[in-house]
Amino acid sequence: MSDINIPVEFTSDEKGYYDRQCPNEKCEYIFKIHMEDWKEKVSDEQVFCPMCGHVNDNIKLDHFRPF
Ligand SMILES: [Zn+2]
Repeated sequence: MSDINIPVEFTSDEKGYYDRQCPNEKCEYIFKIHMEDWKEKVSDEQVFCPMCGHVNDNIKLDHFRPF
């Protein structure tokens, strides 16, 4: 066991990545997105699946299922 104790915020892992799964039933690709990238690049306005490119308007992080 590691003795490193890092506070967990949101649902990110220890490196600050979210695990997300594409909401597209035909894809369901599981990907990671870094929390900083999410804040800086993606915001909550446009999120797309890196595999199938699935995009929804006004999609939010919560629409991508936590894995
Ligand atoms: Zn997808």
